[in-house]
Amino acid sequence: MIDNFRHRGLRKKMIQYLREVKGINNEFVLNAMLKVPRHLFLDSSFLEFSYQDKAFPIGSDQTISSVYTVAYQTSLLDVKPHDKILEIGTGSGYQTAVLSELGAKVYSLERHRQLHKTAKDSLAKLNYRANLFYEDGYLGLPQEAPFDKILLTCGAVEVPDILLSQLKENGIMVVPIGFQEQIMTVIKKFSGEKIEKIEHEKCRFVPFLRDRV
Ligand code: SAH
Repeated sequence: MIDNFRHRGLRKKMIQYLREVKGINNEFVLNAMLKVPRHLFLDSSFLEFSYQDKAFPIGSDQTISSVYTVAYQTSLLDVKPHDKILEIGTGSGYQTAVLSELGAKVYSLERHRQLHKTAKDSLAKLNYRANLFYEDGYLGLPQEAPFDKILLTCGAVEVPDILLSQLKENGIMVVPIGFQEQIMTVIKKFSGEKIEKIEHEKCRFVPFLRDRV
């Protein structure tokens, strides 16, 4: 579990890139990403690459979201300290750590048992107190609903209604929608079940699939 001078240097460069090249300007998000040791969420053979803006394999045929994707989705979620957040697709746990670093109370679901276990270990070693579940995110987490924010880190073919029903009034859901290629979509929920849907840029995510494996 080494996070040394060199890793911190790589993170500084990553933040500079996100700010200057990719236009991320949410200082809270950038600051959180400066703190989380991303290389500790990847297999050590990827150490050299962990701060590059790429999606890397994390096992079970899944990938860690790229640096920009994490910064972008987290900015759209407009995280406030103490927000209760439901994340679908724990994967490596890196995004979960970034949300926790922002002071949110995170509930994260993963359908792959092995990924769930590895992420749980990584987060515990770094003292992040997120709540991780080996569950099908399709059903959400009714026992903890409603949530201030809901984030999907996998691509859904349509707005997941069950999840929408677990979002608080004035809550925000960030979800990539589409088959093969998606559109990053922000859904705001208002009183009387009214929703507003804002479409952002095109993106590519692993699919939101049913059932645990
Ligand atoms: N935030 C993660 C992204 C991992 S990729 C990271 O940066 O590491 C998306 C994850 O969503 C994959 O691990 C995949 O297994 C998971 N996933 C897909 N459908 C799911 C579902 N129905 N419930 C829970 N997790 C799901």
